[in-house]
Amino acid sequence: MTRTIQTTYRYRLNPTVAQEIVLNQFAGARRFVWNWALDRKKTHYQQTGATLSYHDLAGELTRLKQQPETSWLREMDSQSLQQALRDLDSAYQHFFRRVKRGEKHKGFPRFTSRKTDTPRFRIPQRVVLHAAAVSVPKIGMIRAVVHRSLEGITKGATFKREPCGHWFVSIVTEQQAAPRTERPVQTHVGVDVGLKSLAVYSTGETIPNPRWYRTQRRKLRRAQQALSRTVKGSHNRGKARIVVARLHQKIRNQRSDFLHKLSTDLVRHFDLVSIEDLSVRGLAKTKLALSVLDAGWGMFRAMREYKADRNDSHVVAIGRFFPSSKTCGACGLVNADLTLADRVWTCPCGVHHDRDLNAARNIDHEGMRLFKLRVAAGHAETQNACGDSVSPIVTVGAG
Ligand SMILES: [Zn+2]
Repeated sequence: MTRTIQTTYRYRLNPTVAQEIVLNQFAGARRFVWNWALDRKKTHYQQTGATLSYHDLAGELTRLKQQPETSWLREMDSQSLQQALRDLDSAYQHFFRRVKRGEKHKGFPRFTSRKTDTPRFRIPQRVVLHAAAVSVPKIGMIRAVVHRSLEGITKGATFKREPCGHWFVSIVTEQQAAPRTERPVQTHVGVDVGLKSLAVYSTGETIPNPRWYRTQRRKLRRAQQALSRTVKGSHNRGKARIVVARLHQKIRNQRSDFLHKLSTDLVRHFDLVSIEDLSVRGLAKTKLALSVLDAGWGMFRAMREYKADRNDSHVVAIGRFFPSSKTCGACGLVNADLTLADRVWTCPCGVHHDRDLNAARNIDHEGMRLFKLRVAAGHAETQNACGDSVSPIVTVGAG
């Protein structure tokens, strides 16, 4: 049985002035269709109590294009307009799935605004990557920075204008890969996300916070101060805002590169990686407030998981209430008095601990224990009814 692997490739676009106008128009059309369809769905539901399906709306969209005042929609790529309807449909399904699971009733699809929402649109097919350009239906060849080539079959392309003003395209591809092989776990590591450094491995290796991070933060702070000193609505304010947006973008890119390298390295060197399952919201206040991961934890986790899947290795997420720092790795005693300020401590059993290294080793042990439990229960890897490979991630709740 084969499995499907999805990959996203992102490229910076260098459109001409004329092409940029069309990109903005496509994004405007997408927003228009989204808002129109959302309004139709709401109104129809209020009037009849029934829901308009994607097909109902696709039919209505065709008629809308015949109206003189909305005939401009015919100049847009029709697939990208239909895609807006599909996106709305899945936003609804997402919402109702959450309601069904009893989660909070938030996240109902919203009307999008030109002022606050990122200009974007999606084209499901016919976007082709060339050596130094991307060809886009109804626009043609747009120059692009092609730093890596695509592998697999293109499944869709999302165009987005970042706040810095640059357009990017993300292309998703699919590839068939051989099924996972169950090779034994020989190398394993526990990763503690550190206070002083970014991470400490149970092998003793320390990953420092990258140097660029502080430098960029300082530059960003200065740029934000400069922005706050400008007069509202002035030309200088516009310029200052772009400087801030570009710095944000740069930090995002550097962070993403860094986390890619780190996650690749981890899954390449270890058959089993155990790491704390940190809650992203809680992070801001505690450990990672000043670390590179403060906005990248979710991304880092996703990277590790899909890379592990490809590499036939495993990732175990340890519940975040597991007392990794407070437990003595030698005798198992839990030191409830340990505070965040204690970098080293000595257990009554006599063992002297470096806080982060002890935590990393405890995470490693706990991860191995949980993994063996899963293997014994036959759940190290399972197949779903469709024969697709199910992610091998073992997530363990509080405990
Ligand atoms: Zn002890």
